[in-house]
Amino acid sequence: MKRKFSLLVIATLAMTCYSFAQYAKLYPTNWWVGMKWNKVQILVYGEYDGFNKETVRINYPGVKILKTTPLENGKYMALDVEIAATAKPGDVIIEFLQNGKGHAVKWPLEKRRTGLGTTYAQGVNSSDLIYLLMPDRFSNGDETNDRVAGMRDQTLNRNKIYDRHGGDLQGVINHLDYLKKLGITTVWMTPVLENDQPYRTEHGYAFTDHYAIERRIGGAEKYLQLSDELHKRGMKLIQDAVYNHVGSKHITFLDQPMKDWYHQWPQYTGTSYKDQPLFDPYASKSDAKRTVDGWFTREMPDVNQSNPYVANYLIQHAIWSVEKFGVDGWRIDTYIYNDLPFMNRCNKALTDEYPKMTMFGETWVHGTAAQAYFVENKIDVPFKSNLQGATDFQALMYGIQPALKQDFGWTEGVNKLYTTLSNDFLYKDANRNCIFLDNHDLTRILSDVGGDIEKVKTGIAWLLTTRGIPQLYYGTEVLMKGEKNPDDGNVRLDFPGGWKGDTKNAFTGEGLTAEEKDMQQYVTTLANYRKNSSAITKGKLMQYVPEDGLYVYFRYDAKQTIMCVMNTSDKNKEVEFSKFAERTDGFKSGKNVVSGVTVEHKFTIPAKRMWVLELSK
Ligand code: CA
Repeated sequence: MKRKFSLLVIATLAMTCYSFAQYAKLYPTNWWVGMKWNKVQILVYGEYDGFNKETVRINYPGVKILKTTPLENGKYMALDVEIAATAKPGDVIIEFLQNGKGHAVKWPLEKRRTGLGTTYAQGVNSSDLIYLLMPDRFSNGDETNDRVAGMRDQTLNRNKIYDRHGGDLQGVINHLDYLKKLGITTVWMTPVLENDQPYRTEHGYAFTDHYAIERRIGGAEKYLQLSDELHKRGMKLIQDAVYNHVGSKHITFLDQPMKDWYHQWPQYTGTSYKDQPLFDPYASKSDAKRTVDGWFTREMPDVNQSNPYVANYLIQHAIWSVEKFGVDGWRIDTYIYNDLPFMNRCNKALTDEYPKMTMFGETWVHGTAAQAYFVENKIDVPFKSNLQGATDFQALMYGIQPALKQDFGWTEGVNKLYTTLSNDFLYKDANRNCIFLDNHDLTRILSDVGGDIEKVKTGIAWLLTTRGIPQLYYGTEVLMKGEKNPDDGNVRLDFPGGWKGDTKNAFTGEGLTAEEKDMQQYVTTLANYRKNSSAITKGKLMQYVPEDGLYVYFRYDAKQTIMCVMNTSDKNKEVEFSKFAERTDGFKSGKNVVSGVTVEHKFTIPAKRMWVLELSK
């Protein structure tokens, strides 16, 4: 029987090469030798019915089949294989025998990354500065991919905020030197996976194929090239991961492997977007279920991560992405709506495989305790998350925003920022949180502070000196504006100079106003100073109780002391070192790291300014 099968397969292969490639799709599309994750569950998908009648065979040294499981939908099978440490790279041929006919599908087993590519999975930490950009909106480096025939969204109009604008990964590659000069160390792009949805594909959060990089931004080849170009420059790559949902045109939604691959409801049920039911001691189970199992939107079906086949599919994709593209850090979208035990497994699988890998999750919640619940914390709760850091909405909404926008009061204004940071005791390590002034979902900082450039400068000085991993949103450095309401498209406008014929060009400085150039220089100076400051990137933080709108904090280590003075009041303020003796003892003066001007131990800071002073003895 065995011999007959094998001859049949060979005969079939000789007769028809067509079935070799077309017979079935395999996810993951390949794997590597020498991985810790060496038991891979391949999701086999065929464009026909009846895996139930299959016989599957692999004849490859070091690769054996552990189990085959036909899934409810006869077009799918879960094929569990184990790859021995002795297995060599090569094309594993998976042979399928169906109704007396043999078919073979290649599943490449590759060598792990070599040469330049070995610098990856480095992790992103507080010594980095992240630049968040949207590939469709940053720069169009290749006009030939603006539209891709056969894809559902054929829009292309830069005057419409929700149409595609043509930006791509080549555009990012073209301007990496600009980013490096600005002081950026890490690029985080909104998701780069295929979004073959009919409309609103500019944001990338509706995957339609986990194993395809969006062709309109350059596809897998360009993504690999970007990763290499970043690493050549000593920079890092963060991938934006979405586990919670997919696009409604995802292959596993259009043709679902199992009934419970997605969370099904008798009628459409959206998530309540409420985080509280997940930790509230008084919560109802139905509320918690709705938070996690409700759909993000009608176009974004909710993935059932408690289904073990789904879990494997997602975890393996995460590992596959890091290995394939040389990713350094991981940002996890809509973290709180995921199945949290699944997320723990997934996070652990990544750090088991890549011990230096870091990740932070989007936690758009209210209150430090709520946010800390979703990350590694010091709170005594039944569920303990292993997520390293959060996108720190608390330091934003209850921190720098009120500091810049509210009058000073007992709990208002900069006192709120001080208070919020004082709650850092809840985290295992608050320094792993990603901090920001705005992003693709929020009103841009300049618009948020009513166009007041000095306030933006204060915000940036804080962002680049407080604890955490700072993230700058593209265009903030040249005063891009945009209100979230009524349309978040307004905060996702094109970066000036990214398109041929742009009259204003932030890359060359052409057409920038004096104020825009000044801000670009301000960011460059502070960011590059930060890069080389041990106190800011690795040191400790000490903050003093704000008084009458004046907030003073220090970043310090054995080598360096940085005094950060934020005057949020509308009056000039006198500052004396002696008041902060614990940190200023022995120091005589401070040099403003932006202006280069030195101040003595007693100085006056003008109203609505922030100064970053490196102290000298
Ligand atoms: Ca393009």
